Amino acid sequence: MGASIIPLWGNAHTPQKSQDIGVEKGESSTTGANDPEQWHKLGTGKMPRPDRRKTLEYDVVVIGGGAAGMCAAVAAARNGAKVVLVQDRPVLGGNSSSEIRVHLNGVNHLKNGEPERETGIIEEILLHNRFCNPQDSYPVWDHVLYDFITSEPNLDLKLNTTAIRAIMDGERIEAAYCWQLTTETEYTFKADCFIDCSGDGLLGATAGALYRTGREASSEFNEKYAPKEADGWQMGSTVLLGSKDMGRPMPFSPPHFTLKYDAEKSHPGRKLKPFELGFWWVELGSEDDIIGEFEDNKHKLLGYAYGVWDYLKNSGKFPETENYALDWVSSLPGKRESRRFLGDYILCEPDMLGYRDFRDAVAFGGWSLDEHNPGGIENLPEPPSYFHEKFEQPYQIPFRCLYSKNVPNLLFAGRNISQTHIALSSSRIMATCALEGQAVGTAAALCVKKQISPRELGGKHIDELQEQLLRDDAFIPNRAAKSPGDLVKKASLIFASSTSSGEAELLKDGMSRDYHGKLHHWKSQGLPAEVQIEWEDRMKISRIEIKCDTNVKRNIMLRRDSLENKIYSTQVPPELLKTAEVEARIEGKWKRLASLENNRRRLIKFAFDPIETTAIRIKLMETYGASDVKLFEIRCYD
Ligand SMILES: Cc1cc2nc3c(=O)[nH]c(=O)nc-3n(C[C@H](O)[C@H](O)[C@H](O)COP(=O)(O)OP(=O)(O)OC[C@H]3O[C@@H](n4cnc5c(N)ncnc54)[C@H](O)[C@@H]3O)c2cc1C
Repeated sequence: MGASIIPLWGNAHTPQKSQDIGVEKGESSTTGANDPEQWHKLGTGKMPRPDRRKTLEYDVVVIGGGAAGMCAAVAAARNGAKVVLVQDRPVLGGNSSSEIRVHLNGVNHLKNGEPERETGIIEEILLHNRFCNPQDSYPVWDHVLYDFITSEPNLDLKLNTTAIRAIMDGERIEAAYCWQLTTETEYTFKADCFIDCSGDGLLGATAGALYRTGREASSEFNEKYAPKEADGWQMGSTVLLGSKDMGRPMPFSPPHFTLKYDAEKSHPGRKLKPFELGFWWVELGSEDDIIGEFEDNKHKLLGYAYGVWDYLKNSGKFPETENYALDWVSSLPGKRESRRFLGDYILCEPDMLGYRDFRDAVAFGGWSLDEHNPGGIENLPEPPSYFHEKFEQPYQIPFRCLYSKNVPNLLFAGRNISQTHIALSSSRIMATCALEGQAVGTAAALCVKKQISPRELGGKHIDELQEQLLRDDAFIPNRAAKSPGDLVKKASLIFASSTSSGEAELLKDGMSRDYHGKLHHWKSQGLPAEVQIEWEDRMKISRIEIKCDTNVKRNIMLRRDSLENKIYSTQVPPELLKTAEVEARIEGKWKRLASLENNRRRLIKFAFDPIETTAIRIKLMETYGASDVKLFEIRCYD
């Protein structure tokens, strides 16, 4: 006789089909020998029945609270959708969280050595961190993210909640069935649109979304860095560690699970110095089921991490480690690769190296083609990464790579998008994932509003999606904003009180950064400064939006080494506008409409009761240190 399965909650069941969802709250369960709930609540005399099955309805469900998922959820919420963000860990941030501590990089080093930093929601997060976490603490970063996400109206966050499977209605996902570990609660989240930003993509996979793993043959997409024959190899997971100088000798004896690191046989690309912050190359890939092997690989990775540390401490070759001791070893390996969903397009190496212009571009990347070797630390003779090539300029990522080919209401962002293994070797970088996240979040909100699928949105309304992204301070290479409805486009005159570079007219050219050697800014000479916009006819205005400077040629992400040099900074960008006022000329007199103090954002929005005017002026008083102020865009709306 087979063992009988006891349901989780009384007669509750794991819903599999659409008719199974919508169980009434508080529905009583049968009592009897199989009843799993026998709660005698002492002191009350009651025998209550906890009801821990909840069905909640949203417009958009986002799975995974890494860089991609956070930006997707915020974008969807800000564009009017009711959103839930489901994250299986107790903290946000994915690989950048204090549990894993990977640096949230973006387009950091193009061939010319310069960054081309991401703007939009990810920049807002990084700026928020610069203000709240000048000490560069990873545990504090977790709560900078928590603060950012939980202060967003329209957005519910469910931590410690795992999306276990999709509940289907035909080809569409009707709900995400989830389990919250800390409250023993089964959640069923229903929505119009689902965005899988979980990296591994369990929701999408259980919905039947087509996906691939492994390496494509070079002939399939004409990729020069792909292997001749397709194979199953996926880049691996890594356990990072950290150490500190204790000021006195610190002997180290390795734990029993340590695996010996054979440095003599290892490729010199596995650099042991600097050693303080651990080694990204303590990595184990897989040729098979990298998700299913995770726990076994984690055990080995811990062994290898301690093995490398043992070599540093006890081989006698690194006397500089004598006073160092481990003060953190991650218990959660960071992942690099598993499922890659299939969209209407598969991004590949020639698209990236050829800087292909996509009509439906919605994001960009530019980290090098940083393909790690098959096998990681168990493939010692090969370099840990091939670092095939750097890019001269950012490449575009098309919207068709961000939704499923066969599940009509599923979008994705992050490392699981529709791309080849070689494309992933660059695009997996977190700020790139974040841009994809903002794109799909915005797209999902538009799909809900219009009651259409992502494919229809991409086919018929791609301009609207791109325009919304640009308005929200995303950047799409080579795509200037046309800004429909922006009244500044109708202005007869735009001028400034002083100019040291660029010109005031450029504030309406639709480009929100200097690009390809062309200026798209106006910069004052000294402070205070003013920009004035004049119209021949009276305009009704209730919103003014400006994009100021945060220097996209310098990185501002949290780093464990708090690097301060030409391209990394731990400071609030001195260029950022701090104090400003906007005024309108009404019946010949200037009237103050709104003021701004201690600004923390690049995209600044002023909202006020509608006025009718023929002129506005923006008074710019102070930055966070720069002696001139630089703007990239001014928009006015009714
Ligand atoms: C050691 C290491 C070094 C790296 N170096 C860099 C670097 O320097 N810079 C850089 O930018 N990138 C780096 N990367 C790559 C980068 O971290 C990943 O590619 C990136 O995190 C992918 O982003 P994501 O948002 O798709 O996924 P993640 O960051 O993995 O976020 C996904 C989140 O979803 C959660 N989740 C998963 N399944 C479910 C589920 N079923 N239900 C609910 N939640 C779920 C996960 O727990 C996770 O928190 C590195 C990776 C590793 C491992």
